[in-house]
Amino acid sequence: MDNCIFCKIANKQIPSTIVYENDRVMAFKDINPVAPVHILIIPKTHIASVNDLDRDNVGVLVDIHLAAKEIAARLGIAEKGFRLINNCGPDAGQTVFHLHYHLIGGTCLGPKII
Ligand code: 5GP
Ligand code: ZN
Repeated sequence: MDNCIFCKIANKQIPSTIVYENDRVMAFKDINPVAPVHILIIPKTHIASVNDLDRDNVGVLVDIHLAAKEIAARLGIAEKGFRLINNCGPDAGQTVFHLHYHLIGGTCLGPKII
């Protein structure tokens, strides 16, 4: 999609530090990390948010979760734990409207919101 920064990252028009990639998903380091490990996992096709998931495209969530598992294992944080977070819409603070999951870990993450 034109003017979507994460589509441009998926197409490699904008550089990123890629940590995982297959035909359907890409994972790269967040430009403004909030923890020692802060990876963004995205579908390569443009889906704006969870609100835009449907039966035809929801399969990519399987790929995103398997990517999260693989990345956490590779980075050595699988056993200690991590958070996989999605912000959907303005009230949740979503700033980039291309579906993404934050994989955060590498330290004790502190109090849970929920
Ligand atoms: P959101 O607030 O939408 O849940 O998360 C968007 C995330 O994208 C933020 O954590 C922000 O730091 C990250 N981000 C925004 N622009 C870029 C970029 O150009 N490159 C990378 N690697 N991360 C970005
Ligand atoms: Zn996009």
